[in-house]
Amino acid sequence: MSAGAVYPRILLNDFHALWNEVGGDATQAFQRVGSSAWFILGEEVAAFEQALARVWGLDHAVGVASGLDALEISLRVLGCGPGDRVLTTPLSAFATTLAILKTGAIPVFADTTDQGLLDLAACRRILAQSPGIRFLVPVHLYGVPLDLNELSRLREEFGLAVVEDCAQSILATWEGRPAGSVGDLAATSFYPTKNLGAMGDAGAILTNDEKLAARAREFRDYGQSGRYNHVHVGHNSRLDELHAAILRDACLPRLAGWTQRRREVANQYQRGIQNSEIRLSATPAEALRSGHLFPVFVSPDQRDALLAHLESWGIQGAIHYPVAIPDQPVMADYPHELPTGCTTARTLCRSVVSLPINPYLTDEQVAEVIAAVNAWRGAR
Ligand SMILES: *Cc1c(COP(=O)(O)O)cnc(C)c1O
Repeated sequence: MSAGAVYPRILLNDFHALWNEVGGDATQAFQRVGSSAWFILGEEVAAFEQALARVWGLDHAVGVASGLDALEISLRVLGCGPGDRVLTTPLSAFATTLAILKTGAIPVFADTTDQGLLDLAACRRILAQSPGIRFLVPVHLYGVPLDLNELSRLREEFGLAVVEDCAQSILATWEGRPAGSVGDLAATSFYPTKNLGAMGDAGAILTNDEKLAARAREFRDYGQSGRYNHVHVGHNSRLDELHAAILRDACLPRLAGWTQRRREVANQYQRGIQNSEIRLSATPAEALRSGHLFPVFVSPDQRDALLAHLESWGIQGAIHYPVAIPDQPVMADYPHELPTGCTTARTLCRSVVSLPINPYLTDEQVAEVIAAVNAWRGAR
């Protein structure tokens, strides 16, 4: 923090407020699991999976150890392996591409739109020119859903296997349909900062396909199809009973309310922020966002000045994400393709600032963020 800066009062995430709200229920869940004397793959995991699938509006959920594992296991369940080419976005958490690399497959990056979302028109052009691409990993980044109708058409027309990265998009919908419902499988994360955050690492795979769900259950547990019968080179990626219990009792029942509050905050920002030097992200009329992140875009040479300005008002900002995935150092050692370049994504990486958005922000705090953003003038 620079000299004279104010300690942030308006936070990106507020885990103390979270504990104040859920601590009682989480403690009860802990006592129940402890006294059950059963800690791995038991009734708690099964009950959470059912509750999650119901809330999501899909038939099956499979709890795993993280969002990264949910993505990697989903790809492996669909047969993705060494040499396969997987179309994806250059702007996301690195985990999206890491999951592809871990299967031995080759990421093919399409550029993003000026909103930072995977450009589906660019995907269509790339797919038309590269018949060898059989997999697609789209990301509903920031909790803004991609056009599910177009995703579904791409899947059909090009015969793709699709894993939707829904780590940021739980409860987001397109024309009322949930993000995660048009791919073969959807992967999500319960990393603490996510909309449904655990008190540690956890994730899940969702699908309407019973056979794929069964395979995912095998892959998460050493590749066993039954006890001591190993049919895949699987993972140890089991959601534990304790996290399942905390998620089901303390967090999942509150998710709708939390999401509603996130959407209110997003709408207040959308209406209140009026500054010609700041571009807001637009949500298409068909989309209902999850309110996971609220990115704004400024000219690349002004980004650090905006962050410093927010900091001086006691407001925490963040960058999602500072580096395009193909530009990460490790990518130099792994084959990947950039058929149309990723100029837009690279520019956004230097322009994006995330404003605080979480269920615990008060209307006064939201008004303060709006005032701070509106008061900002870029250095000239
Ligand atoms: C958080 C996140 C992941 C990875 O989830 P982990 O649980 O941290 O492994 C993957 N993709 C996106 C878009 C994410 O935001």
